[in-house]
Amino acid sequence: MIVEKWCYNQVKMSDQIQDQILTCLDCGSKFMWTVGEQQFFRDKGLQNIPKRCKPCAAAYKAKLTANHPRWWIKCSGCKKKAEVPFEPKDEKAILCEGCFLKRKNERDSALAEMGEKMPEYPPREF
Ligand SMILES: [Zn+2]
Ligand SMILES: [Zn+2]
Repeated sequence: MIVEKWCYNQVKMSDQIQDQILTCLDCGSKFMWTVGEQQFFRDKGLQNIPKRCKPCAAAYKAKLTANHPRWWIKCSGCKKKAEVPFEPKDEKAILCEGCFLKRKNERDSALAEMGEKMPEYPPREF
């Protein structure tokens, strides 16, 4: 598939991933959306393509989080200090984002494994 440079903002993710050149919504500069980043987006199940270049995205995020207080926690997984965007209710069971995602992935793959072993429908008797 050949991606026309002039319709980059309308380009939806196809099965064939390649570097794309996008235009930043804030500063109007062109930036590269690399295959690796696209892969990351897909892994996270994100549908929308990035609207901003990295510096603008960081500034935008900072602006958003500025209005949202963050709390420092000690992760019960890796024992490191981490920032979370919510008030910890149970400090002992709290996980940093990395550990949370890791646990979630572990659980998801465990469920997937179980799902594979389970028949989709119970066998029917005729
Ligand atoms: Zn920008
Ligand atoms: Zn952790």
